[in-house]
Amino acid sequence: MTDEKRALVIVAHPDDMEIGCGGTVARWVEEGWAVWLVVVTEGGGGGPDDATDVSPEARRRISELRKAEQHEAARILGLRGVEFLDYPDGRVEPTLELRRDLVRVIRRYRPQIVVIPSPERNWVPAYQVGRYHPDHLAVGQAALAAIYPAAGNAWDFPELLAEGLSPHHVQEVWVINAPVLNHAVDISTTLERKLAALQAHRSQFGDRFHLLKRWLRQAALERGVRHGLQYAEEFHRIRLREPFPFRR
Ligand SMILES: [Zn+2]
Repeated sequence: MTDEKRALVIVAHPDDMEIGCGGTVARWVEEGWAVWLVVVTEGGGGGPDDATDVSPEARRRISELRKAEQHEAARILGLRGVEFLDYPDGRVEPTLELRRDLVRVIRRYRPQIVVIPSPERNWVPAYQVGRYHPDHLAVGQAALAAIYPAAGNAWDFPELLAEGLSPHHVQEVWVINAPVLNHAVDISTTLERKLAALQAHRSQFGDRFHLLKRWLRQAALERGVRHGLQYAEEFHRIRLREPFPFRR
C-alpha cells in the first residue's frame, strides 16, 4: 500500500456530502488527498413533495437525474470517484447487508479517514429535522458498525476475504451533525467551491438556491466564529487507536 492520503465520504443521498462537508473535501483535494464518495441510496425519493406521479418509472428518472447531478458536483470538488449502492431512498435500515456493503467499500478504498452522518440526533439547542432524515441515521449507524469492528476484522463477513478484500483499519472517523462537535475545519478558501458543487444539484434547489446559499453561508460563519475562523465546518472527530489488546 502506498502512503497516499485517502478519505472516503459515506452519505445517504446525493447532495448530503456537499451540505455536510463540501468545504472540507475541497480542502483535502487541494492538499493532495484522494477522496471518494459512496452514496447509499439511488436518490429516487428526491422528487417534489407534492408529486402526483410517483410510479417506479418516475422514480427511476429522478434517480438518473440526481446521479448525474452528483457526478457533476463531485467533478467540481475534484473527487476521484462516486459510487451508488442503490438502496431505495427513504427506506434505509441499518441492516447487516448494508454493514457488509460498507465494509466492502472501506476495504476496497482503504481510507485513513471516513466521513459519516451522525447515527444519533441532537436535540440541543433545537431539533433540526432535515439533518436527521431516517436514512441519515441508518447510514450513520451502519457505517460506524462497518468501520469498527467489521472492516478491520477478518472474521466479520468472511465472504469478503474470498473477494480478495483483506481487513483494513480506519484511522479516523469524522461525524457530520454529531450531538457533540469537537473539531472545526477552516473552509474560508473553499466555501465558494462547496456552494458551486451544491448548485449542481439543480433538481433539489432550483430557483430557491439563493436561499440555501444564504443559510449555508450563515451557518459556516457561525461555526467559524466559535473557532476564531471566518468560515468553518464542524465534526465529531474520532481518532481510532490500534486494535484493542484483548479479544472481544
Ligand atoms: Zn440527505
